[in-house]
Amino acid sequence: MTVVDDVRSTIQGLRREVCALHEQLTRYRLVVWTAGNVSARVPGQDLLVIKPSGVSYDDLTPENMVVCDLEGRVVEGEHAPSSDTEAQAYVYREMPHVGGVVHTHSTYATAWAARGEAVPCVLTMGADEFGGEIPVGPFAVIGDDSIGRGIVETLRGSRSPAVLMRNHGVFAIGKDARSAVKAAVMCEDVARTVHISRQLGDPVPLAPAQVDALFDRYQNVYGQR
Ligand SMILES: [Zn+2]
Repeated sequence: MTVVDDVRSTIQGLRREVCALHEQLTRYRLVVWTAGNVSARVPGQDLLVIKPSGVSYDDLTPENMVVCDLEGRVVEGEHAPSSDTEAQAYVYREMPHVGGVVHTHSTYATAWAARGEAVPCVLTMGADEFGGEIPVGPFAVIGDDSIGRGIVETLRGSRSPAVLMRNHGVFAIGKDARSAVKAAVMCEDVARTVHISRQLGDPVPLAPAQVDALFDRYQNVYGQR
C-alpha cells in the first residue's frame, strides 16, 4: 500500500468508529435531538473526523461523517461539520496527546455547569476517572476560538479528562474517541450521583492522598493488561 492508501484506509476506519460511537451517546442518554458529537484525530495527519451538523443520530453513516483539517475547514464530506468543529480542532492543535473529543449537554453534568460549580471528588469513581474534581471552564460563545481556549486552559490545569463549560455543557477528551466517550459517560454518572448525594446532605470529601492513590491504581493497574 502507498502512504496515500494507508491514510485513506485509516480515515475509513475512523469514519466507521466515530459513527458507531454516537450510538453510545444515545444509549447512555447523554444527548437529545442532534445536540452532541464525537470526533477523532487522524493519527499523524492534521485532520479530524467529526459528526455532520444537524443530522439526527439515526441517520448517521460512516459515509456522512466529515473530515476537516485542524483549522476546522472541510477536507472531505458532503455535509457541513458539527458547529463544535472549531472548538474541537483547537483542542487537537493544542493538545497533541488527545486523539478523541466528545461534546454533550448531558443533564446532570450540565446542571453543575449552569451553576458554575465543579463536581467535587467524593466518590472512588470520581478519583479513578478524574483524579479530583471535574472542573468548570469559562463561559464562551460559539464563533471563535474562545470555547477551544477555555477547554484547553481548564484541562491543562487538571487531571480530569472532562470539563464543564459554564452555562453550556461537557467537553471530554481521550487518547482516542472511545476513551473520550467513556469520559463523557462517567462524567454524567458522577455528576448525577454527587447531585443526589447533595440532596441528602453533605457528601464526605476524599482526602487528597486517597484521591492520588485511587487515580494512580485505576490509571496504571486496573483492568486487563
Ligand atoms: Zn453545546
